Amino acid sequence: MALSEAEVARYARQLLLPGMGEGAQETLRGARVRVTGGGLATAPAVYYLAAAGVGTIWIDDPDLVTPDTGAGFALGRADAGRPRAAALAEFARSANALVTAEPFRPGMRATALLICGATPDVSRAIADEARLLQLPHVVADVDGQGGAATAVPVGAPCYACATRPGLGAPPTAEGGAAVGALAALELLLLLTSVSQEPRARRVEVFRGTPLVRATERQPGCACMGPSAAGLAP
Ligand SMILES: [Zn+2]
Repeated sequence: MALSEAEVARYARQLLLPGMGEGAQETLRGARVRVTGGGLATAPAVYYLAAAGVGTIWIDDPDLVTPDTGAGFALGRADAGRPRAAALAEFARSANALVTAEPFRPGMRATALLICGATPDVSRAIADEARLLQLPHVVADVDGQGGAATAVPVGAPCYACATRPGLGAPPTAEGGAAVGALAALELLLLLTSVSQEPRARRVEVFRGTPLVRATERQPGCACMGPSAAGLAP
């Protein structure tokens, strides 16, 4: 279905971006993205997905909002004690009333995942689930120096293959904001055909400087299975 007048007006500047057009915008509108994990990148990622026009956003986060929830600009003191998924869904709708955002419930079938686990181990378990479901996904890791966004198209080297040990420094809200926005952008690129760049990649941000590298499959990894057939290693 073509974009409505309200949608054309809402996304006017985005539609002017090279490679972006009404077709790509319609693709974003048709996407159903499950944002999962209660890490520092979650709220910024939700904001950017909503603002860009991802049509359906499901927030999979079972925790309650706490004063140190790390959601910063997204959630205020009045939200403390509320389920974080409901509060973030409301925040997403306030960012863009044209999108649907609600807490994730079992049985909802996403077309892609944005994974913001509080730790790489948590993210790895969810990324494995996404890989087995053959859903494209991006993982946001936040650490004390910044963090990384790992984009995993279907059949590509998995998150475990792409991950490098971090410095172990405690993550910061600033890093969460930067990496959350970056991870959302990487997912938008996976969902659309805007960029011709290699999509199986990891963007590492170290003190504000990004480093992009293609991911490689590690020998013997479980991701070298049937779902990877036909794709480059
Ligand atoms: Zn792998």
